[in-house]
Amino acid sequence: MDNQNKLAFDGGWQYAPAPESTDHITIDGQYGLFIGGDFVAPESGKYFESINPATEEVLSSVASASSADVDSAVKAARKAYNGPWSKMKAAERGKYIYRIARILQERAREFATIESLDGGKPIRESRDIDIPLAAAHFFYYAGWADKLEYAFPGKRPVSLGVAGQIIPWNFPLLMAAWKIAPALACGNTVVLKPAETTPLTALKLAEVVRDAGLPDGVVNIITGAGETGAAIVNHDDVDKVAFTGSTGVGRIIQRALAGTNKKYTLELGGKAANVIFADAAIDQAVEGIVNGIFFNQGHVCCAGSRLIVQESVADEVVQKLKDRMETLIVGDPLDKNTDIGAINSASQLETIESYLRLGQEEGAEMHQSSRDIPTTGYWCRPTIFTGVSQSNRIVQEEIFGPVLAIQTFRTLDEGLSKANNTPYGLSGGVWTDKGSKIFKMTQKIRAGVIWANTFNKFDPTSPFGGYKESGVGREGGMHGLGAYLRLEG
Ligand code: ADP
Repeated sequence: MDNQNKLAFDGGWQYAPAPESTDHITIDGQYGLFIGGDFVAPESGKYFESINPATEEVLSSVASASSADVDSAVKAARKAYNGPWSKMKAAERGKYIYRIARILQERAREFATIESLDGGKPIRESRDIDIPLAAAHFFYYAGWADKLEYAFPGKRPVSLGVAGQIIPWNFPLLMAAWKIAPALACGNTVVLKPAETTPLTALKLAEVVRDAGLPDGVVNIITGAGETGAAIVNHDDVDKVAFTGSTGVGRIIQRALAGTNKKYTLELGGKAANVIFADAAIDQAVEGIVNGIFFNQGHVCCAGSRLIVQESVADEVVQKLKDRMETLIVGDPLDKNTDIGAINSASQLETIESYLRLGQEEGAEMHQSSRDIPTTGYWCRPTIFTGVSQSNRIVQEEIFGPVLAIQTFRTLDEGLSKANNTPYGLSGGVWTDKGSKIFKMTQKIRAGVIWANTFNKFDPTSPFGGYKESGVGREGGMHGLGAYLRLEG
């Protein structure tokens, strides 16, 4: 253990609290549905609460959209599509998208704070990753709006119409940006539903859309749970469905869309492996593992939830990981020192805890950091499992929490076959000093994104998506445009 870690571990010193203030934000007590450019009451009159998972306090009540509300939103989107949006010059469309990007940048601090309050993620992450990347997606796709024919030479790109978009709770604003920005750039209108536990930044984005002056109905944002999502998927006048969430719901959606004319993209679960070779820069690799699974509470579909480490350095890596885990601060998401925030909901915490029990029942050895965690709210200590076998459910299934399963390997082929041995294929990581090993591994790991000597780095220009049960289609980059267009000629 190095000196700095040892000091923190021994409780020799603590950081003074550095909480982000909430004075600069406003959250209304109640939000309606953003349909046709206005916030309207839900047809059923029903609302549900969005809580702060770190304190269990209610932040706001949001509308529960029925299928009648979904129908109104789709009608508003169709009217805007047939009306101003599909007739507008592409360069003009681009200007609106730039405007959204700029307003998001101006209001970045407010968005970051609300994201951390509503979702439980550390402010450092929402401030440095979620919100800047969301703005970057709008900037990137704004630039494509009037250049679509250059993306697809020899083809005539034609917009699809109304896109129904359903997103999860792990990156609420960023997922909204991933979905809305390319859809608008390609000339579509949208109906977007955020997850029921994290609706607030999407509703704030509705304010941005209104302030940016987009024609009414181009972007509609409606809230609700799974039934609202299903009503979007099954609506006859939706031309494209874009979904990010669990593989289970993805399957339901794929079945519902089979035999229809709707285009779809599905970005589903993952069980990414970080493969560390003995020649890797070990300290850097350990930091990459920590970043890949513990930061953001493991609430990332491409989280590095498996570690496959070459046998000769396994003891060293595991010891360094354990030391580093002791220094990770689990606590107030608004505190700038926090490494691991709150688990998003009581039910997600229950899921994680059931996997912790299962891992032990399966015979694996569990190790957790010994630091204190808060007593109210939903929290999970960073956890590793060693002594796991390939068939264990904690190795095969997505847990979506700060839980890492560790396996070892001797030869490159063994490491590769372990890395590929899950039903998922969203992402992966390779840590080695040798370029040749990077090339061999990245060509053969069956995953949509593979990082080498780094992990969880995103950029709007890079496509993202899965192999196998991790999904269908790509988002981001030029590939992300293709998902919102029909190519003629
Ligand atoms: P997670 O496990 O990440 O919460 P889910 O797949 O349950 O993922 O949820 C992702 C999104 O899908 C949420 O917005 C949720 O409301 C929505 N959803 C849940 N069930 C359905 C369904 N049957 N059809 C469409 N959307 C759904």
